[in-house]
Amino acid sequence: MKVLIVDDDESHAELTQERLQKEGLTVDCALSAEECLEKVSTSTYDVIISDYSMPRISGLDLLDELANRGIDTPVIMITGFGDEKTVVQAMKKGAYDYVVKEPDLGHLDLLPFILKDARSKYRLQKENQKLLAELVTKSRQLEELNIKLTELSITDELTRIYNYRFFQLMLEKEWDRAERYERALSCILFDIDNFKRINDLYGHPVGDKILRELADLIRRSIRRSDYLARYGGEEFVILIPDSNLHNSIKIAEKLRKLIEEHAFRHADELLRLTISLGVTSNEVPQAKSPSALVELVDKALYNAKRDGKNCVRFISSNNLSD
Ligand SMILES: [Mg+2]
Repeated sequence: MKVLIVDDDESHAELTQERLQKEGLTVDCALSAEECLEKVSTSTYDVIISDYSMPRISGLDLLDELANRGIDTPVIMITGFGDEKTVVQAMKKGAYDYVVKEPDLGHLDLLPFILKDARSKYRLQKENQKLLAELVTKSRQLEELNIKLTELSITDELTRIYNYRFFQLMLEKEWDRAERYERALSCILFDIDNFKRINDLYGHPVGDKILRELADLIRRSIRRSDYLARYGGEEFVILIPDSNLHNSIKIAEKLRKLIEEHAFRHADELLRLTISLGVTSNEVPQAKSPSALVELVDKALYNAKRDGKNCVRFISSNNLSD
């Protein structure tokens, strides 16, 4: 163990040095706080033993100076007899321990034990800091992992839009919200026309690529507050909060045109696709529950297919029996 003694009383410093050398320690001396600061800038010590009462820079101020320089070597303060106030101040400023100077120098025999304790305490503290830093990193990693897991559980693996399960969850949530605040809630269900032909002609990887591209196109043309989910296969659903049937039919028509006019590229070929869409909203009296809303929108999509595809059909209170 390498120790630095800081004491303006040269003979006391020497006596301390001799006593500690007897214990087999490597001991260096500084006769002022200034000299101590100089020494710690070039060498490292395991423990510093500092006198409290020194001219210019006191032992207390030395604690501040060391802290300012980012030096965390444990410091043991030597104080005068009956100077409890100083002890408290020194401990508050980060001193590791203290020893009270006794006229018969009895305190010198205590020093080896105090030094050992200080070093153990320092090592424990370092270990704690290391563990704490590791803990912070680990909990950050855990948080990131949780976000990823949440994302995975709500997104469709292929298209990266929401999955069916999350759609069901949001449908319940938005249904309740719409009821409570008497707001409109619309639903669009759509399906790619003759998609089987794409898979048969070009293979499933091309089909998958098209599904991704189409989902991306739709996602970018709706509001962030709308929920686009893959309903299954080539079927998609959009939940549109705060939008009435009239407005949602316009949205559906816009999306129909968007896909009709889009050229999907495959190698040198441009592929053309169309979608059929069904629309309904909670304004329809028969839409008494989330599942009833889905049944109605499913019927609307069926009507769009029946009427020749590439069109929008809706269910309102007037055309329910259509
Ligand atoms: Mg002194």
